Amino acid sequence: MRQDRFHGRIGSGSRDCDWPGCKEPGEFRAPGPRGSSFDGPGDYRWFCLDHVRQFNAGYDWFEGMSADEIMAAQHPIHGWDRQTRAFSPTAGIDQAPRWADFSDPLEAIAQRARAKMPSQRSDGRAVTPDERRALDVLGLALDATRHDLRSRYSQLVRKYHPDRNGGDRSFEARLQAVVEAYQLLRRAAAFC
Ligand SMILES: [Zn+2]
Repeated sequence: MRQDRFHGRIGSGSRDCDWPGCKEPGEFRAPGPRGSSFDGPGDYRWFCLDHVRQFNAGYDWFEGMSADEIMAAQHPIHGWDRQTRAFSPTAGIDQAPRWADFSDPLEAIAQRARAKMPSQRSDGRAVTPDERRALDVLGLALDATRHDLRSRYSQLVRKYHPDRNGGDRSFEARLQAVVEAYQLLRRAAAFC
């Protein structure tokens, strides 16, 4: 008989499943972010049956994949974010692969769930995922004002314009991303 990797149902059912948004009782144990080691036992988290299965499957998905493939699979928006990060005004600060951000499968799942949901500004207005990515391109926060939008746009257009870079065309892709982001946001309800 094959031993169950997560030891089956052992919780008392007094806690909720740790899966983001799940309200089922968390009766099944899975390894936590910190595994067992010489430093002592690791921590655990608790899932309902469906989610402990999904969590377990998450490990198997990555079997036989290269580090790059795993990184791509765990990445919440599949490369889009990485590309805009390279274009972002803060590029160069954190260009190393953000492996540490997603070494925990549950965190990767939660990030993916958040990536599909609108965000709410402190003024209560909703910002769609597309608008949020556009804000990232411009290096602006969720609560940016219309004025922030305009001034950052003109700042980045000056920065990336070939006329300001001795005719260097290498900034064209960045400029293009900035223009597209601005065009999206200037029509967005949250910034009117
Ligand atoms: Zn669950």
